[in-house]
Amino acid sequence: MDGLKEKVRIVPDFPKKGISFKDITTLLKDKEAYHYVIKELAAGLNDIDLVVGPEARGFVIGAPLAYELYAGFVLVRKPGKLPAATIKYEYELEYGTDALEIHRDAIIPGQRVVVADDLLATGGTAYSVVKLVQSLGAEVVAIRFVMELTDLAGRERLSEFKDCDIKSLI
Ligand code: AMP
Repeated sequence: MDGLKEKVRIVPDFPKKGISFKDITTLLKDKEAYHYVIKELAAGLNDIDLVVGPEARGFVIGAPLAYELYAGFVLVRKPGKLPAATIKYEYELEYGTDALEIHRDAIIPGQRVVVADDLLATGGTAYSVVKLVQSLGAEVVAIRFVMELTDLAGRERLSEFKDCDIKSLI
């Protein structure tokens, strides 16, 4: 699709000085662009049981992708948001740590899973989601992003997941 990149609004210095925020809300409200993105992310994926996406923009991309693939959708959330028994993955930030959680019963061992999010930056978020899924015994066959910030080397962070097909559209 011509001009897909231009559908994403760049907001300088958000949420803090020096960050160039890639705002996909301008893409999402464009019905043709949104539809195109989901179709493209689904291309080539077969026999997928589940799509797993982290809050919040991973829901907006992952849920329609799951629907398109006739797969289920599983939410990964910040600690304390999921109501039933969870497992947690903690990861390092520049200052301190952060964590993500998934329901313990969200995935059956052996299921074929796609991880989806809006954007790949350092790769820390996607790495944590893959680790959560793998710790429940499932196979992450692919990771899909709308955008990738190639200078932040997120792909390198994900390079230990050798059997996993990683693709971004922009
Ligand atoms: P990372 O864990 O560093 O790969 O960051 C990816 C997550 O943070 C995604 O869920 C994005 O929504 C968000 N994110 C990181 N950097 C940006 C950015 N420059 N613009 C918009 N979202 C970002």
